[in-house]
Amino acid sequence: MDNIYTHLVRIAKSDRTQRLNTITDILTECGICHRLQHFETGTNAVISYSGHNDFDIIFMAHHDIASGTIQGANDNTASVAVLIALSEWLQTQNLHYNTHIAFTDHEERIGAMLSENVTNEDRFRIITSIGSYQLLKTFSAARVKAVINLEMSGIGDRVFIAESSGNVPCSAALNSRIAAAADQLRIRHSSVRISNSDLLSAHVRKMHGTVIGALPAGEYVKFGSYPVPQAWATMHTPQDTIDKIEQPALEMMLTLLKTIVDK
Ligand SMILES: [Zn+2]
Repeated sequence: MDNIYTHLVRIAKSDRTQRLNTITDILTECGICHRLQHFETGTNAVISYSGHNDFDIIFMAHHDIASGTIQGANDNTASVAVLIALSEWLQTQNLHYNTHIAFTDHEERIGAMLSENVTNEDRFRIITSIGSYQLLKTFSAARVKAVINLEMSGIGDRVFIAESSGNVPCSAALNSRIAAAADQLRIRHSSVRISNSDLLSAHVRKMHGTVIGALPAGEYVKFGSYPVPQAWATMHTPQDTIDKIEQPALEMMLTLLKTIVDK
């Protein structure tokens, strides 16, 4: 799957309103069946493969980028490109569970929910405008084994496994399974606390979930309410560009995901 980087460059260089079209063009060119889920405020792209057992594993990455961003290379085009490569590979696999890959819209609105001045009605309006919530609404929580959300998959020599995202705790059982998969592959991993993400939608829908991505080494700097590695400080700025992406990070993430997929 040496195409991950090529996919990333193509999506990141698209006009921001054309990003989803570029993603679906790539999926079509790769022969990957997908569907679009339109909702009032946006659109998700979803790929589904059936397994032998009627339970669901959902991988997701937001395809929208923050308003101050031009390419959004690491947040979150890298994760989208990794999941496209995973989808290509899944086409040839015999799967234990139904496996879904989703590219979700409007993750970047989640931050608005944190504001102290937001009323409960506003919170409800915001959550229903978020793609991951609209996606997970279409699944029955009792059948969903895991929701694995990817963020920041393009820079770093190790993997982060989030302990929490905003106020939402990640599934400890799921995290230890992912950590075991990383150990098996000799991929280094660290537990981190990250800011709000699409994990919120899994929490609202009462599904087990976590957030993973690539983690750069080096010093942490203050960024919003959480310290982040220096290389993440370009997040939500025009400096989140493709020249900073490390191809080995993309490959590392794909390798780990292949191991996580339960056959
Ligand atoms: Zn993001």
